[in-house]
Amino acid sequence: MSVRTRIAPSPTGDPHVGTAYIALFNMCFARQHGGQFILRIEDTDQARSTAAAEQAIFDALRWLGLDWDEGPDVGGDCGPYRQSERGEIYARFAQQLLDDGHAFKCYRSAAELDELRAGLKANGENRALKRQDLELQDAERQRREADGAPWVLRMNVPESGKVVVQDMLRGEIELDWANVDAQVLLKSDGMPTYHLANVVDDHEMRITHVLRGEEWINSAPKHQLLYKYFGWPMPVLCHLPLLRNPDKSKLSKRKNPTGIRYYERAGFLPEALLNYLARMGWSMPDEREKFDLAEMLQVFDINRVSLGGPIFDVEKLSWLNGLWIRESLDTGALADRLIEWGLNRENLLRVLPLVQPRMETLAEFIPKTAFLASGKLALAPEDFESLGLERERQVELLQFLLWRLESLPEWQRDALFEASKALAEAMEIKLKDFLAPIFVAISGTTSSFSVMDAMLLLGPEVSRARIRDVIELLGGVSKKQAKKLEKRYRQLEAAGDS
Ligand code: GLU
Repeated sequence: MSVRTRIAPSPTGDPHVGTAYIALFNMCFARQHGGQFILRIEDTDQARSTAAAEQAIFDALRWLGLDWDEGPDVGGDCGPYRQSERGEIYARFAQQLLDDGHAFKCYRSAAELDELRAGLKANGENRALKRQDLELQDAERQRREADGAPWVLRMNVPESGKVVVQDMLRGEIELDWANVDAQVLLKSDGMPTYHLANVVDDHEMRITHVLRGEEWINSAPKHQLLYKYFGWPMPVLCHLPLLRNPDKSKLSKRKNPTGIRYYERAGFLPEALLNYLARMGWSMPDEREKFDLAEMLQVFDINRVSLGGPIFDVEKLSWLNGLWIRESLDTGALADRLIEWGLNRENLLRVLPLVQPRMETLAEFIPKTAFLASGKLALAPEDFESLGLERERQVELLQFLLWRLESLPEWQRDALFEASKALAEAMEIKLKDFLAPIFVAISGTTSSFSVMDAMLLLGPEVSRARIRDVIELLGGVSKKQAKKLEKRYRQLEAAGDS
């Protein structure tokens, strides 16, 4: 049987370095065994999934030099490879579970679920909700059914006892059924949850090895049980260690940029970023730091993955990137890379309309646009003094803006401007004062061309990373403050909606 692996990203937000890291190991494992590597789009969360985010995943992974044998954009025998196009398949298998008595319709409302959980807690029962907790008396169930009340499909899970799952790297992992809830498989809108869709697809796409992040370990018992209910062979599981911030916490954009496109824009070479991701938890037999994908493929052995949490450290990545620039590119190749990266006619044509009105000599072009070709800006807290607003207020508005920008479905000039203007109005700040700290955060100065155009050119990852950097520079937002700010932000949003 041929080895088949897959990566199953959800098309929400910026493509994450963690996705590329998992993709790389799946691809190497499949190639090393002469098998296939599949890309499947898990877009069952219709509210958050976008076509642009899906395209961004393809582009970012390809930019890194990864490619797949089957997927929504390349086809294959096991399609469709987009979960949103597989609704009938999930409905069929959900019905099978229901018919076989492995799953049940649950009519409980959110308030009832809270109450049931509180009841367990009050009883000192530290366990998840099970079928017997959730099922209604016959008459009540029939009443809700007749009323057409919303329901979800949940799976039966054992009440207690140990469950063992096998992991290729970790051996036997023992978990407790008491902590596993009667997982929802179909939501009230009829869409499958991750768990049902993932198991059905892995089976239907003949996946033999599931290499995924360790955050999915707790889902493994449910998946194992679903395979058993269906009577299907279970793929081999392998939970890779999660990427971490230098302080060992789970890699988060608050501490490090996590978007692949950030690194692309900030001038990292794809070979270097891929090399660095390969070094996350894995090493060459001779421990050398710098190697390319072909070299990795030649000697790849999954058993060389070490389970300690690999640290994603931008300084170390920059050092490795420097090695690539100095050792692997001759001057001509470096010139070509620079042109390809940013110094091309297409880019000039995008930037020039904004700077031309402000230029007296050609020589002014580079200083006036240098901020567009930088990753992080070298700013100091003093740069934000005398901008009209108190520091605290600046932090607040930058944080609010960041939240708004994070929820923008598309990065378009009008949307950016509307989001900023509406926020300034809601916060009762004059637009000029509101924009001043944003100008400095994004362009390094208040005397540049429109900050909306600058954000548009820089793209979402770099723009948001710069705003995050400035929030930190101005003292950051503690957990406690974040709670307060969040509350105020929600009030503003609610006021804006009414
Ligand atoms: N859609 C899941 C994710 O976004 C896939 C997890 C898995 O590989 O099973 O990470």
